[in-house]
Amino acid sequence: MANKIISVKNLSKNYGEFQAVKSISFDVYEGEIFGLLGPNGAGKSTTLEIIETLREKSSGEVIVDGFDLDKKPGDIKKIIGVQLQTSGFYPGLNLVELIRLFGGLYNRPVNPMELLKKVNLEDKAKNKAKELSGGQRQRFSIATTLINNPRIVFLDEPTTGLDPQARRNLWDLITEIRDNGTTVILTTHYMDEAEQLCDRIAIMDQGKIIKLDSPDKMIDDLVESGFERPKQVKAANLEDVFIHLTGREMRGE
Ligand code: ADP
Repeated sequence: MANKIISVKNLSKNYGEFQAVKSISFDVYEGEIFGLLGPNGAGKSTTLEIIETLREKSSGEVIVDGFDLDKKPGDIKKIIGVQLQTSGFYPGLNLVELIRLFGGLYNRPVNPMELLKKVNLEDKAKNKAKELSGGQRQRFSIATTLINNPRIVFLDEPTTGLDPQARRNLWDLITEIRDNGTTVILTTHYMDEAEQLCDRIAIMDQGKIIKLDSPDKMIDDLVESGFERPKQVKAANLEDVFIHLTGREMRGE
């Protein structure tokens, strides 16, 4: 069994009287893509931001790569990659300059072209972030999480608003990041994405984790419980039609 790279025990977060996270416990294993799913307001961002050291917890224990959040938040910061808000991409700077700037914030030498190559954006090195399409901007945003060569990256709805090709390109990129040894934690509202991409998922609702398993096992459990889809599902869906007609190659996405 792989190492636990994140261990969360009885984590709670209160906002005044309101308990947004209710004593949740879970582990994330090294080298997996772990999805945190759930309706809006379930407590996903609160949970992730606590682990990312960006928000105070009310109680519980969080250990990241052996570092206790209470004692070593600075060490945790050094080994994680968090997506920066695209609004923080200074409009006057091109992609290479932005990566240099962020590298400076991490106090680390970076090779911008190498990083851009990883996310297939070498062609855009001299462009500004606002000149990128939605998919390219997301890829760039993922590149910024890799600047400090992190052991874990956190991706918040990485494919929201993208077209089907751009989403699939992002899935390939995220899988590559995992295959290169980085643990990935992501949130998504796309169940097909979670099913394709995540090794395991936790489903949160009203501050609690109500299920945690591999997507495959969750589906099998549901089927075993006697669940049946109301309608015979066709062998393809409209997204398959779209991809079949328009192809999968990278475009200006
Ligand atoms: P999710 O990411 O699953 O949508 P959040 O963690 O953002 O959920 O929010 C969980 C709950 O906590 C929501 O009911 C939200 O309104 C509440 N909440 C989040 N941040 C704050 C805050 N700073 N102050 C008060 N309530 C908050």
